[in-house]
Amino acid sequence: MNHPIIIAGPCAAESQEQVRQAAVELKDFRLPQTAGGRGITFFRSGAWKPRTRPGTFEGVGKEGLLWLKDIQESTGLQTCTEVASAYHAEEVLKVGLSAVWLGTRTTANPFLVEEIAKALEGTPLHIFVKNPINPDLNLWLGAVQRILRHHPENVYAIHRGFSDYHTGQLRNAPLWRVPIEFKVQMPDIPLLCDPSHLSGHTDFIPDLAQRALDLNFDGLMLEVHHHPSQALCDGPQQLTPKTFKSLMHTLSWRKSLPSEDPLAEEKILIDAIRTRIDVLDDDLVNVLAKRMELVDHIGEVKKRGKIGIVQIERWNQVSDRTREQAVEKGLGEPFIEEVYKAIHQEAIKRQEKIIRNE
Ligand code: PEP
Ligand code: MN
Repeated sequence: MNHPIIIAGPCAAESQEQVRQAAVELKDFRLPQTAGGRGITFFRSGAWKPRTRPGTFEGVGKEGLLWLKDIQESTGLQTCTEVASAYHAEEVLKVGLSAVWLGTRTTANPFLVEEIAKALEGTPLHIFVKNPINPDLNLWLGAVQRILRHHPENVYAIHRGFSDYHTGQLRNAPLWRVPIEFKVQMPDIPLLCDPSHLSGHTDFIPDLAQRALDLNFDGLMLEVHHHPSQALCDGPQQLTPKTFKSLMHTLSWRKSLPSEDPLAEEKILIDAIRTRIDVLDDDLVNVLAKRMELVDHIGEVKKRGKIGIVQIERWNQVSDRTREQAVEKGLGEPFIEEVYKAIHQEAIKRQEKIIRNE
């Protein structure tokens, strides 16, 4: 799949005319050359909408699939929609769309993920798995694994933020460390970001989209509606085709990897700096090991003297001293506090073992 992967289109398929209008405006659009110069990868629109509260627009159902199929045939755009059950997946297969996504509420349910995975077994569909609604990395990884067991190719993940009982500006909490950890655990699964559902409002989309590109996400899913104020759901977060296109041209696109050309200037620089970082990492590990050796010696002394392990005054001294030094050297206070909390916990664990003769 070409990089970056761009999915754009209305939140929901509301009428044939509405999806057609969005598709017509997007079909000839080309990304800037810095982003590969191609068109959008998939045109999106939800036929079934999983709404949090009843009594709101829940999608037009399978009729919407026919509208998407028509778009696929008349514009050449590949289309995708949300599936939340084996029934949805089977209907999509009957109609012949190119891709589906599992929404955040579906990923959180292993039974549904399993039945969808089975329904899509042996098909060439592209499958996008949004993160679960709660920040549970294992649930997300597990859902992707369930899909991969039945459908090993063309599987992707989408970060759309996590539901939180919060009053912040964004609709969902980004918790960027969760998708970054996802990437560490599943480096071969392309990871997209959905700034529309993350933000809940178009005002915040440019910053979130840029942040995702800076972090090296593999693409973006964006909601685009030709008349957002009349949208039947998610109006405030839907871009117009015009604002979508201008966003694509104002973002600063990044290469996913440093050039493979061994003579490229950035490649030479990055390699040289990485060598120095490797040396420092060796030093860091050695210093930590030596520090823990000393912690063990103190553990022996505390054991002999029947002295309690946690000595709060000493811990406060260490923590104040290192924080001051670190801040002077330009390191962030929360960062150094995290590092020392981890060191302190490990030290306590080791001394507990010594005292208990384990
Ligand atoms: C959607 O993409 O329209 C959607 C419902 O998303 P999510 O599952 O991320 O809320
Ligand atoms: Mn939506």
